[in-house]
Amino acid sequence: MSLLTRRAVMAASTGLFLARATATQGLEIRRTAPAEPFALGVASGDPSTDGFVLWTRLSAGGAPLDAPAVPVAYEIAEDEAFRRIVRRGRRAASPALGHALHVEVSGLRPGRTYWYRFHALGAVSPVGRTATAPEHAERARIAVSSCQHFELGWFAAYRDMVAAQPDLIVQLGDYIYENSYAQFPKVRAFDAPEPVDLDGYRRRHATYKSDADLREAHRLAPWVVTWDDHEVENDYADLANLKGLDPAVFARRRAAAYQAYFEHLPVRPSLWARPDRPRLYRRLAWGNLISLPVLDGRQYRSAQACNPPGQSGNRPRRDCPALAAPDRTMLGAAQEAWLDQTLKAERSRWTLLAQQTVVAPIETLEGVMSDQWDGYAAARDRLMRGLTGPSVRNAVVLSGDIHAFMVNDLRTGRPDAPPVATELVTSCLAASHAPKARYGEVRARNADVRFADIERSGYTLIEATPQKLDVDLRAVSDQADAEGVTQSLARFAIEDRRPGAQA
Ligand code: FE
Ligand code: CA
Repeated sequence: MSLLTRRAVMAASTGLFLARATATQGLEIRRTAPAEPFALGVASGDPSTDGFVLWTRLSAGGAPLDAPAVPVAYEIAEDEAFRRIVRRGRRAASPALGHALHVEVSGLRPGRTYWYRFHALGAVSPVGRTATAPEHAERARIAVSSCQHFELGWFAAYRDMVAAQPDLIVQLGDYIYENSYAQFPKVRAFDAPEPVDLDGYRRRHATYKSDADLREAHRLAPWVVTWDDHEVENDYADLANLKGLDPAVFARRRAAAYQAYFEHLPVRPSLWARPDRPRLYRRLAWGNLISLPVLDGRQYRSAQACNPPGQSGNRPRRDCPALAAPDRTMLGAAQEAWLDQTLKAERSRWTLLAQQTVVAPIETLEGVMSDQWDGYAAARDRLMRGLTGPSVRNAVVLSGDIHAFMVNDLRTGRPDAPPVATELVTSCLAASHAPKARYGEVRARNADVRFADIERSGYTLIEATPQKLDVDLRAVSDQADAEGVTQSLARFAIEDRRPGAQA
């Protein structure tokens, strides 16, 4: 910030006199301004009633920028043509954050659409569209996405999502994949090996942002994101990791992955005060219609039960009493306490709990899976107590992770007692699917699984009114087809004060 003067910003924003401006500001840009500094796109997220966070990351056509701090100007307007600009500002995009920029905006009007753009290095960014949350809402449209493997599928489902004009896009994790799967056919390839350090994770995120459908989805709607495991390494749990590496070693890798995640997603920098221990759990709201608590089920969790110490891994388990040990946690004590308070203070019509792994008990052909809430049964009991408290009118859990669509009744009492909540599991947006040898008979073996499809990719679209949620599970025709068409696979309704999905 201190590097910036009005003159530098004006130069940057008009695209004129970059060399002279930087010379006078002591910004030693050794090269000429790069082509396409906004190649990674623009994004917005976490709307409140008076603001949101805006994001971009400067690059040289997607490659890291070789430059010290770069002045960036931003503009927010009430119209797409920027005739009514309501906010202007300037920031420095610093190399310490890979020239990423997050602008947390407040003081805007509730419940309205805004357009925004950035100016830097003589270029103007694409125009992004976003919105503030309303104070009162009679409708909301929320798209839920999870698990997008760049190599295993095209992201065509985002085109259908954008066409639906959702108020919010909620991403439940596995936004990137750190690993490749040699056994599955690829539609395209990562341009680098598995990341383990900051440069590697930055490059992986930049590769993701080379996808035009993903960039458009970010440009056209505000996102609410949380992570699962592949943003760092498959199946990690706190500092327990797949190879059983020393926690101090893995902590460095995780910190690099967390930083790169922050640098590429529209999350509020106020959550990132401690970069190595960022806080991702938080609550959003859409009037009194929707409450959206967002959980972090990775950073604080106990390692999966019955693995060797320090080693993570999702395994089917049958004889593992530790699955239910009361001292094991999915969320960590601080987040559990926060969630408890949040749920006790609920006054919304619908509580949509955005989180990662499947909550319903699921008996697969191989046993229960230790990475899901089945592997944290005591923590699940505590979660369900919170979700069924008197202040929560309608509890709906949003889950991802297993690369299958499922609609589940959630129960706390006897199997013949009525359900107390509903779980919507969205399939992968694009990835390999839940294996048949494990999930092949999941409906037949689990009475509370009301719907399951383990063969299709896509996303879940929720239309909320005070009376009901209309849920549309939308599947892409073929993720290997860049022009894949996305259509309704199944629809359910969840009615006010009637837990469980109705066909
Ligand atoms: Fe996944
Ligand atoms: Ca996993």
